[in-house]
Amino acid sequence: MGLKWLVACLVVLSTSSALAHMEHHVSGSMGRECALTKVFQHEGKLSSKAVFLFSGNPVCTYIPRELDEEKIANGEPLKLVFFVPHATIKKESKSAIARLNNETCTQDYCIKVNQVTTPVKGIQFTVSYYPQLHGFEYQSFKSITGDEGVVFNFHNQSLLQQVNVKASTERIRRTAFTELPTVILDFGHGGDDHGFTNGVLLEKEMNRQIGQKVAKLLKKKGYQVCLVREGDESLALDERTARIHACKNAGILISIHTNAAARAEASGIETFCHIPDMFTTHYQQANKDTIGILQEIDSVVFEQSMQLAQAVHKNVLETAKIKNTSVVDRKVKHKVAQLLLGSEMPSILVELGFLTNQEEALLLQKSSYQKDLALGICKGVDAFFNMV
Ligand SMILES: [Zn+2]
Repeated sequence: MGLKWLVACLVVLSTSSALAHMEHHVSGSMGRECALTKVFQHEGKLSSKAVFLFSGNPVCTYIPRELDEEKIANGEPLKLVFFVPHATIKKESKSAIARLNNETCTQDYCIKVNQVTTPVKGIQFTVSYYPQLHGFEYQSFKSITGDEGVVFNFHNQSLLQQVNVKASTERIRRTAFTELPTVILDFGHGGDDHGFTNGVLLEKEMNRQIGQKVAKLLKKKGYQVCLVREGDESLALDERTARIHACKNAGILISIHTNAAARAEASGIETFCHIPDMFTTHYQQANKDTIGILQEIDSVVFEQSMQLAQAVHKNVLETAKIKNTSVVDRKVKHKVAQLLLGSEMPSILVELGFLTNQEEALLLQKSSYQKDLALGICKGVDAFFNMV
């Protein structure tokens, strides 16, 4: 893609001179038209995240400014400014931005998003937080939808200092042998959000039918199941991640989807999970100990997500083969999905077949094939908990 993310952390300039400098800078080939299309907020236990998706090629730059250490030591918030030149705000993201501008500032951190026109057109992010409470990190990634993403992370420093990583991973190990942990199931789409539809088939219906079969089978095996949405309700993504964090004794998260493609021939099963390589850290300001703990937790979660993805993928392919003999293995893939980004436990997203493929769509509507897929997911869950 040739995308270049710039971070000018080393040079301390005032905001205005940095912007003037930028005017010269972005008039070259690097600044391109881009638009802020989506905004998400994920309130996790360890971190809160604000996520911004852009179409086009955004170049998000840290604008260095002098920090008044005395004021910060006296309990005033730390203020950081980031700028995306040439960026505009799409109409559909305006209400989410208004909400972000109003709501986060009632908490102990604050993000203000502003469209500016001088000295160059662009979007300015002003982030403020209390370094005694939060560690801050700015990362970029490529989303599952192909958009470029920017994420501002606010880590809960005091909670991270209390977490004993070894103990929390041991807990997952132990529960595998004593009591079965909670499996969180997310049926992709619902309410006004139909997912894929061709007018006859609705992805949300398919996902729910299969998901309910998975829930039933898991409960039969003794797992606790926590559903992100029970019925056909409209739920914003931020609310879905909030519900995930409200599930008790949460072990793993599985988001169930069916696929669609422009090519009618496309078919098969694919599973997504996150890996550390997908995120590039551009700016970090936090207590070294807590960042170390967070990285350790992340690496365990990423590793277990991969194990879960492989176990579920392998077993779903096997059970799908009973009726879908030439099912295509589209493999375990790594793309950033918002729901997975907002969860703090091992998480995967499964795409169980293509509704745009005539044969696969027919199979997916059959209750017996849905049962096979559900059984595959449960076998994968069992295999995962026997492994960790
Ligand atoms: Zn979907």
